[in-house]
Amino acid sequence: MKQGDTVVVATRNAGKVREFAHAFGKLGMQVVSMFDYPNLPDVVEDGATFAENARKKAKTVAQALGLPVLADDSGLQVARLGGEPGVYSARYSGEGATDARNNEKLLRELARITADDSGLERLADGTTLLSEANFICTLALYDPVTGTFIESEGLVDGSIMDRPRGNGGFGYDPLFYLKSQSKGMAELTTEEKQAISHRGTALAELLKKITAVSE
Ligand code: IMP
Repeated sequence: MKQGDTVVVATRNAGKVREFAHAFGKLGMQVVSMFDYPNLPDVVEDGATFAENARKKAKTVAQALGLPVLADDSGLQVARLGGEPGVYSARYSGEGATDARNNEKLLRELARITADDSGLERLADGTTLLSEANFICTLALYDPVTGTFIESEGLVDGSIMDRPRGNGGFGYDPLFYLKSQSKGMAELTTEEKQAISHRGTALAELLKKITAVSE
């Protein structure tokens, strides 16, 4: 990957596309996504792990296009829910899941087990932190010519708030609080999110590995 290249990202998630376009744009590269290849079928994400799903998406699309392809499999792991929604993050609320419905379900599930919230931490504005959580992102880049993967992983720790904050980001960002920033993830700009997020960290590690391989 070098300046001027176009990077194919195997996703139809507009939030992910925006973040990858921002990150690669800074390196002088363009991003195309599955929105640019509407006829490619969706890849069934039936892996038990994020890494398995990322590898499957990257390899399937790369073999269909005959080009190297980058895939991201990511999700939210909530401590008080035993790590759920995990690999099911995108479809947590079932058939026809949307970000809004997934966030509603997350608050419903946590409300059930935090009915007595007297021991929970509260922010100055009265927001209650319902559980520790993290976002995880695994990236897989597959080259169909060499048949090889380059992979990386990133994590960011935070807490789930009992009410949304901010208008940025996507997915569960409105409910994810970062103590390190004293802000919600959806209150960060794309640039700020990239600097600390699971996806930003995974991408930085992947770029390092790509440079090492091509040297
Ligand atoms: P998948 O990787 O396409 O299976 O879906 C990942 C799901 O995890 C997204 O649909 C979001 O619900 C959630 N997710 C992943 N990354 C983020 C993020 O950066 N912010 C908020 N939610 C995320």
